[in-house]
Amino acid sequence: MSSSRTELMNHAREAITAASNVVASLVDDLERIRTITKDDRSPVTIADFAAQAVVGLMLRGCGVDDMVGEEDASRLREDEAVRNEVVCAVHRALPDATTDDVLSAIDGGDHQGGPDGLFWTLDPIDGTKGFLRGGQFALALALIDHGTVVMGLMGCPHWGVHSDPSGGSVRKPGSICAALLGEGTRSWVIGEDHAEASELRVASWDDGDPIRTCESVESAHTSHDWSARIVEAFSGHEAVRLDSQTKYAVVASGASDAYLRLPTRPGYIERIWDHAAGSLVATEAGAVVTDITGADLDFSHGRGLERNRGVVCASPTVHARLIERIAELEAIDGTGGGT
Ligand code: AMP
Ligand code: MG
Repeated sequence: MSSSRTELMNHAREAITAASNVVASLVDDLERIRTITKDDRSPVTIADFAAQAVVGLMLRGCGVDDMVGEEDASRLREDEAVRNEVVCAVHRALPDATTDDVLSAIDGGDHQGGPDGLFWTLDPIDGTKGFLRGGQFALALALIDHGTVVMGLMGCPHWGVHSDPSGGSVRKPGSICAALLGEGTRSWVIGEDHAEASELRVASWDDGDPIRTCESVESAHTSHDWSARIVEAFSGHEAVRLDSQTKYAVVASGASDAYLRLPTRPGYIERIWDHAAGSLVATEAGAVVTDITGADLDFSHGRGLERNRGVVCASPTVHARLIERIAELEAIDGTGGGT
């Protein structure tokens, strides 16, 4: 690993830890959180904005300036009350940050991605619906180098490999998961020394074993019907539903054999910030991550995974069986099992 990458990892780890602590502290203070409805009707809260600001500000000066972030500050520029709440939340980590610092850091996530250069991608709170219902959510930060994810970090304030790796909600302190390309995935308790980290490793699975899957809670994000048909081909089945990229960590830790994300409608394009960090956390723990056709996820086409349909993340033997099974169902259904 080059020393510059080690330094970037140190910056990223500190940023995700600080932002995770801010967001976790807001869980105890939900009345301060105003849910604002975005144009696409998905929720965004002051916690999402505050987390993007904290990460953006803490990565300033690290040598990588571009970021593809989920949020922008246009709403905050119009709404003083919400803006003040966001700045107040940011002050929990960065007491000297000015309002301008906060707005410009959030708007710093406007990079368009693509095949060239080095850039971060950030989902400040993936699984905002999980956050709002006290379930799982993740702060997800990845570094993409010429279209390849080379670093992935997730702050998971409600998940821990030592507490409940299958994804039931644990409360604080939660975990950080971090992966570097070629160097494995490690996880440690938020706030504890990362030197005490555990290596994450997928479970082994043989033909004939039952399958343990995880999938989104939201039926709009993945086809629950289709996953039920897919697993009929296995000798037994257990499923858990949880929000966010924490599903990748659940597979990485061996608590599930597979994470299925099956398109619910033609034309939905997955966003890179919903998958970059999690996919590296899983692959560096031994999983295979592709779309439902078996194609690699392609992070070089801007802000969306334009060339992919859905996601299958699983330990290698299970992955091969799942891709076969999905192809069988697509052949039977003609247009695709779920869409
Ligand atoms: P999850 O918590 O795994 O259900 O995923 C949450 C993410 O789903 C959000 O960050 C959204 O970007 C994304 N999302 C929104 N609409 C869809 C959709 N129709 N299909 C798949 N993902 C979606
Ligand atoms: Mg998201």
